[in-house]
Amino acid sequence: MKKLIRGLDEFRHTYVPTHQELLTELSHGQKPRVLFITCSDSRIDPNLITNADVGELFVIRNAGNIIPPYGAANGGEGGTLEYAIHALDIQQIIVCGHSHCGAMKGLLKLNQLQKDMPLVYDWLKHAESTRRLVTENYLNYSDEELIEILVAENVLIQIANLKTYPVIQAKLHRGQLHIYGWIYHIETGEVLAYNETNHTYVSPQTQLLEESNENSRLNYSRTHAPPVACELLPASDLSLPEETNQWRALDRIAQVRSKLDFLLQINPQSPQEAQKTMRSLCEIFETATQQGMSPGELQAYHYRFAEKIQIWAKTIYSLKD
Ligand SMILES: [Zn+2]
Repeated sequence: MKKLIRGLDEFRHTYVPTHQELLTELSHGQKPRVLFITCSDSRIDPNLITNADVGELFVIRNAGNIIPPYGAANGGEGGTLEYAIHALDIQQIIVCGHSHCGAMKGLLKLNQLQKDMPLVYDWLKHAESTRRLVTENYLNYSDEELIEILVAENVLIQIANLKTYPVIQAKLHRGQLHIYGWIYHIETGEVLAYNETNHTYVSPQTQLLEESNENSRLNYSRTHAPPVACELLPASDLSLPEETNQWRALDRIAQVRSKLDFLLQINPQSPQEAQKTMRSLCEIFETATQQGMSPGELQAYHYRFAEKIQIWAKTIYSLKD
């Protein structure tokens, strides 16, 4: 306790004087841009990991970052959600699970909790879909692997639960709300974001690009884009004449692999080129999924591209400044 009280003092004497303008502005009202839903776990700190300032994140925290479906509970979650979306007009929601989540561990041994922690037991029943989805569909996995899978699937189930709220549905319908699924890894500080197209967790930088596409700054329509890199990139960027015949002989996944390896070598010089390359990557990942590339290999490629994507994103965003 002494440490916390000393901390209060330190905060008032170091942070407050250097942020006086912001704090005065915030005293007149809040305008957070993001509703951040995460676990109560002490090892995750939404502001710290996103480098967000006071007043930027509106936060809901509970054990297991659970949002009971509309009407299923009279807890604070529904009301807080409604206030965030309707009164504060927040247009982005992040549901952020995390590695080694105790609540997800609890889901694996739910019945044992009933006697010692009946309230936790009751609460975790709101994540029964997560528990059942994982235990029925992921057989032959170790407990440790199952916990990782529970964390990942739970984020998606809670996003589905969010969509049962009328206030969310209404805003989604108007295209004024975006919901993102994240997983925070305690040991590395890394965040991975859910990509709906590939049904996999990838570097969150790709979401920046999806947003920029939605804003149609470069007037890109995903559904009308050609499916593979070769057709999207200028011919000069993809000079593969001798390889073409060989490619025909390879199976389709090998073709996808070759294209991904090729993209790893590309260093786009202009924002337009970078945007094209990024689109190509999205399309190839989609093709990879369609052709049945294993989730493990897909994930490995996502990791290999993480750094590239950051560089490309910087190139693209230089257009904006
Ligand atoms: Zn947790």
